[in-house]
Amino acid sequence: MKVNAYGAYSGDRFLEPLQITRRDTGPDDVQISIDYCGVCHSDIHQVRAEWEGTQFPCVPGHEIVGRVSGVGTNVTKYQVGDLVGVGCIVDSCQHCDECDSDLENYCDNMVGTYNFPTQDEPGWTQGGYSQKIVVHERYVLRISHPEAQLPAVAPLLCAGITTYSPLRHWNVGPGKKVGIVGIGGLGHMGVKLAHAMGAHVVAFSTSESKRNTAKVLGADEVVVSTNADQMAAHAKTFDLIINTVAAPHNLDAYLTLLKRDGTLTLVGAPATPHPSPEVFNLIFKRRSITGSMIGGIKETQEMLDFCAEHDIVSDIELIRADEINTAYERLLKSDVKYRFVIDNSTLSATSLIQGKYL
Ligand SMILES: [Zn+2]
Ligand SMILES: [Zn+2]
Repeated sequence: MKVNAYGAYSGDRFLEPLQITRRDTGPDDVQISIDYCGVCHSDIHQVRAEWEGTQFPCVPGHEIVGRVSGVGTNVTKYQVGDLVGVGCIVDSCQHCDECDSDLENYCDNMVGTYNFPTQDEPGWTQGGYSQKIVVHERYVLRISHPEAQLPAVAPLLCAGITTYSPLRHWNVGPGKKVGIVGIGGLGHMGVKLAHAMGAHVVAFSTSESKRNTAKVLGADEVVVSTNADQMAAHAKTFDLIINTVAAPHNLDAYLTLLKRDGTLTLVGAPATPHPSPEVFNLIFKRRSITGSMIGGIKETQEMLDFCAEHDIVSDIELIRADEINTAYERLLKSDVKYRFVIDNSTLSATSLIQGKYL
């Protein structure tokens, strides 16, 4: 099946309309008509070949929400018309330790939603900037938010689970003090989720201008990270700090804010390494620096259900598919509150020809 999509033919070209092929719906597959797809910073890295091994044409997008438009004969969990999502994972080996532990995100043979090898045409996966996708039932998530919230649910599939998973793994809840570094696409979700879990939440931003918005998101306190006095006032007090910043920076500034046995978790991936932390800052208080990558399918479903129950969605700006290149430029300048989401109905033939929002 041919479907309309938006993607790039090489790393130095703008994204443009193109057609891609989706496989026939196999016995275990769910075919999804995509309504909305979030725009993640990873999309830009991949499509611009800033990360190695980009296959072209590249169609990014791993924050996918839509409606089931077909199911295979073995599918029991979903029916045509159901509201569903697909995140960063569309396949894995299904028999290793990680897969058996519901941690497909750490499977050595995890297949990402775009730019991973697949038997499907053209030989690598292509993502959610497209009209339809066909995914094995195991990797499809159920959405129970009200339908009107669907566009703002999309970013939960990457930004949401990337922050939810470490918050859960390190047992965040009432009585815990949690820091979120960087109030962007990931960080704004981290603040909302940690707040809903009952923690005392401190947002770190380089910009004083984020103070009010971070409080609206659910931060109890806001610290301007370039202000030494404000930072020092929080020394040795945090149980967990989640760092979403993807640019290399001095981690000691945050390590020293952790109390004994506290943890600094990195979820942003810089293209070049952070400067090495001072080992004494780890030794003295038995502190840890860790990383965390998205979440498994079971936990992603748990996150979606938690968000539906607590009325949590992402703060978004809805765009047409043909606005994607402008959106990338704005995202690179952090000029978005806090996530762009594509309205995939603008990928219809009429919409693309007329170049306007229908
Ligand atoms: Zn992402
Ligand atoms: Zn596996």
